[in-house]
Amino acid sequence: MTDEPQLALHGDIALVTGASRGIGRAIALELARQGADVGVNYSASADAAAAVAAEIRDLGRKAVVVQADISDAEAVTAMTKTVNAELGPPTILVNNAGITRDMLAMRMKSDDWQAVVGTNLTGSFLASQSVLRGMLRARKGRIITIGSVIGTVGNAGQANYAAAKAGLAGMTRSLAHELGSRGITVNLVAPGFIQTDITADLSDDVIGAVMQRIPLERLGDPADVAPLVAFLAGPGGAYITGQVIHVDGGMVMA
Ligand code: NAD
Repeated sequence: MTDEPQLALHGDIALVTGASRGIGRAIALELARQGADVGVNYSASADAAAAVAAEIRDLGRKAVVVQADISDAEAVTAMTKTVNAELGPPTILVNNAGITRDMLAMRMKSDDWQAVVGTNLTGSFLASQSVLRGMLRARKGRIITIGSVIGTVGNAGQANYAAAKAGLAGMTRSLAHELGSRGITVNLVAPGFIQTDITADLSDDVIGAVMQRIPLERLGDPADVAPLVAFLAGPGGAYITGQVIHVDGGMVMA
């Protein structure tokens, strides 16, 4: 009998928010492929989330589907409680859930500002807070949040989204300071233009203008983002914390 090499995330328990589709789905599946059991959070698409969980189980890993609006503190507490009970306390949290409500600042409604900040920024903080007790007890944890190049460079019509994503960079650095001594790393993965539902409605003109700014001359795919998240979650990420890492085909270089 040959000894199977152990997978990088063997024994890990991951919680991925907004994992029913797009980048979150790709991340949940990649973490499972690398050995983690996965809590699949979703807000509305129960069937899609169940399909992701079924794919994870087909990979031989455990999965639990948990509905929660991550901008709602009570729902987030309940979500993490369910994952703790069904899989165990998460050692990996991926704050992926996010929304856009684009509008020029002059016409942006307060609701559009609040919704985008509430989900992207506050939701990621609430989810991070909810897993901390377990990570602190284990003296081990990886918090990986999905930001955006827009948080770095800004974009007309996206003051709410840019503010929320830039806020996540500040949150990431602060948590990295707070938690480093306890064996917990905290990083922000900032994608460029990735083809998902969030970008599906953009006009050919907008996409053409974006393409001009991508040295690698193609739009990104969720599969371009997921391996970096898995790397940061695994042994290779052990000495990386407080960083903002762009995955954008070279769109933003700093
Ligand atoms: P998507 O719309 O396909 O997926 C977003 C996911 O978040 C969905 O599953 C949705 O149900 C979930 N979600 C939204 N609000 C939620 C809430 N309140 N509670 C729980 N879940 C919620 O979009 P995507 O492109 O896969 O986006 C994933 C992340 O990547 C987002 O944070 C987004 O801002 C970020 N991002 C995307 C791009 C891109 O070009 N697609 C670029 C940079 C960053």
